Amino acid sequence: MTNSLVASLARAQVRPLPAYNAGLSNEAVRARYGVTDIARLASNENPFGASASVRRAIAEVANDVGNYPDANCTALREAIAERTGLPAGRLVFGDGSEDLIKILCEVFLAPGDLVVTQRPVFGLHEIYPKMMGAEVELLELNEQLGFDLGAWCAAVAKAPKIAFLPNPSNPVGCMMDTAQFAQVLEATPANTVLVVDEAYYEYALHDDDYPDVLVMLDARVGPWIVLRTFSKAWGLAGLRVGYGMADSAELVGLMDKVRSPFNVNMAAQRAALAAWNDPAHMRSGVATTVALREDLRRQLLALAAPGQPLQGLRIAPSVANFLFLDLGRPNAPVTEALLRQGVIVKPWKEPGFENFLRVSIGTEKDNARFVLALLAAMEQTERVTA
Ligand SMILES: *Cc1c(COP(=O)(O)O)cnc(C)c1O
Repeated sequence: MTNSLVASLARAQVRPLPAYNAGLSNEAVRARYGVTDIARLASNENPFGASASVRRAIAEVANDVGNYPDANCTALREAIAERTGLPAGRLVFGDGSEDLIKILCEVFLAPGDLVVTQRPVFGLHEIYPKMMGAEVELLELNEQLGFDLGAWCAAVAKAPKIAFLPNPSNPVGCMMDTAQFAQVLEATPANTVLVVDEAYYEYALHDDDYPDVLVMLDARVGPWIVLRTFSKAWGLAGLRVGYGMADSAELVGLMDKVRSPFNVNMAAQRAALAAWNDPAHMRSGVATTVALREDLRRQLLALAAPGQPLQGLRIAPSVANFLFLDLGRPNAPVTEALLRQGVIVKPWKEPGFENFLRVSIGTEKDNARFVLALLAAMEQTERVTA
């Protein structure tokens, strides 16, 4: 460990923070592996892109960029309030929903506070609480790679300051269903801030048992917020817009005090509004992705059968736009072999999950390419490790 002057001046919580694993850019993969045609299946991005109306909105914004953006996202706020039925004052906007995760930590967490979430973890549900000096309890999955209801109910009963409940989970894709969410809600005391991260809401809606948490939370005594994003189903990951739907304008007011005043830039606001006003485009991309996810799952399951080339491969249940795969062998050489073939996926690095990788659902062509590349990669790595 280095003992430099600058490191000694940093807050004690900062030095040990794990780095967020943002994955490789297409450019880095081109440069390092000399491949030109890339299948980008690492960051749960939307392969169908944003609505055509987004392009027009971005072109027009060029005329106005000398001015500051609207600090309150008024037009977008009103549009979302209108369609969701939530009062406009209970919405809060972020530079991506990750910004809102950070803001919540800054509002609520002091050193020693307890935060509960699940592992394998969406990195920022752990990193931002630790940045504030909180203790993070990471709950294990059950045997079927789903939520462990008993563990969740016991953990929230300890009244953590914040519970980050990702539904569905990233990277696993598993879902807490309506009956299960009701149990967790029942077990959560009023002095816990319940944060439901619904980054994959639009995909999960295709599952009949996906809970309508806004309706269920309505009766809750105690603070809560549901986080959603324009990065996934709406195809705007590059512009960074997320929003929160809170129990009260009071919670939004506290978040307003710590957020950067112009945290959502002008292009992002206009693009998100244009995307929001073309829900048909979003729905069609989501429906295609859900169908392609099930196609990919069936193909992989067939290849995982006894005597087949991917025998023993395990696939976690997923209602999102990705699959989490247990390769039954270390993920690093497999990922490396995939990269050499121009396929970028996300190998999981948390202890206990070094055999897993997450693959985002791409176009039909990219998914087919992934299957072929995985077959080759598994063959090559078998030879290495045998
Ligand atoms: C992708 C994702 C987010 C947020 O993304 P933003 O691009 O910051 O809106 C938040 N939570 C989870 C679990 C995610 O997977």
